[in-house]
Amino acid sequence: MPIVQRFGAGSRVLVSGGAGFVPSHVVDALVARGCTVVAVDNFVTGSDENVAHLAGHPRFTLLKHDVCDGLPEHHPALAGSFDAILHMASPASPTDFTTLPVEILRVGSLGTLHLLDRAAIDGARFLLASTSEAYGDPLVHPQPESYWGNVNPVGVRSVYDEAKRFAEATTMAYRRSRGLDTTIVRIFNTYGPRMRPDDGRAIPTFISQALRGEPLTVHGSGAQTRAICYVEDLVRGILLLLDSTEAGPINCGTEHELSMRELAERILTLAGSRSRVVYVQRAVDDPEMRRPDLTLARTRLGYEPTVDPDEGLRRTIEHFRAHLR
Ligand code: NAD
Ligand code: UDP
Repeated sequence: MPIVQRFGAGSRVLVSGGAGFVPSHVVDALVARGCTVVAVDNFVTGSDENVAHLAGHPRFTLLKHDVCDGLPEHHPALAGSFDAILHMASPASPTDFTTLPVEILRVGSLGTLHLLDRAAIDGARFLLASTSEAYGDPLVHPQPESYWGNVNPVGVRSVYDEAKRFAEATTMAYRRSRGLDTTIVRIFNTYGPRMRPDDGRAIPTFISQALRGEPLTVHGSGAQTRAICYVEDLVRGILLLLDSTEAGPINCGTEHELSMRELAERILTLAGSRSRVVYVQRAVDDPEMRRPDLTLARTRLGYEPTVDPDEGLRRTIEHFRAHLR
């Protein structure tokens, strides 16, 4: 059965991390639907530039605040109840795992608890942005939601993997014990305009290097794989899940799986770059392969990604070309 829109004109939605890459696109889609949106962000990895085009919009407010401290009690934008709360705040690049480890653990734990408490008070639908990293370095391929994962609980990636696993467990506990309307999306490698060129992830790094004429730094042999998703497809999936009554977790992404060596070569071609590829040391516990099993997203939500990777990469390269300093 097609999903009917639950949140549109007249709905009030809070998006934590709303000035980040993926969340700012979600904010755009919600505002375009007619929702009133409050984005709460401490700018640790995001930027107000990502939502600058919404400045002064009557249905949009950007609040600089750390959600680990709870929500400010007397801010006018937070008065009255929300119909939906999307908890999307968290540094997400593997580079952040070493530079912001405690911040990641705090936003996955304290931030999640505070926003769930607010959702309980408001009777809001709560959506948690979780991750394919919940599967760790998976031993099952592709990864269905029923797979419990293979996570090193004390490794460098554990700050992110375990923070998100804690956030998932907490979300499910509030659902079971307090009757909250909750859902969880497990997001797979997503890319597109507004990624930071220096955020350390493969796609923005390779594109920046290709456009600057620098060597593309492929980690290890580059045989490790990821399935890449253009942000527009992910946003559609997230809104379908939000509108549904599904509890999740539900995977969202694409089946366009490719090796990092192939990705580097494809970006060189699409960017028309003469940079070369160099092979550098690979990070510890880097997952060997990753691709979502999308059966649940298809059957429960009617989700289908549509943007071909060459097209998505081309659009992202053009964005970087226009913005790279
Ligand atoms: P991002 O860093 O661009 O966005 C995260 C935003 O959260 C930033 O604007 C940051 O400033 C904000 N933030 C972090 N801690 C905060 C805090 N304590 N209080 C308020 N704001 C805070 O990263 P992204 O790639 O857009 O990821 C967005 C969400 O999606 C994250 O939760 C991430 O874990 C999840 N996710 C993303 C991907 C992906 O491929 N992009 C994959 C899996 C999961
Ligand atoms: N990667 C790479 N060169 C880079 C950055 C990343 O080869 O400059 C590799 C990284 O080792 C990993 C893959 O690309 O195997 C995807 O990394 P990314 O940080 O984009 O996402 P994640 O590890 O979270 O899937």
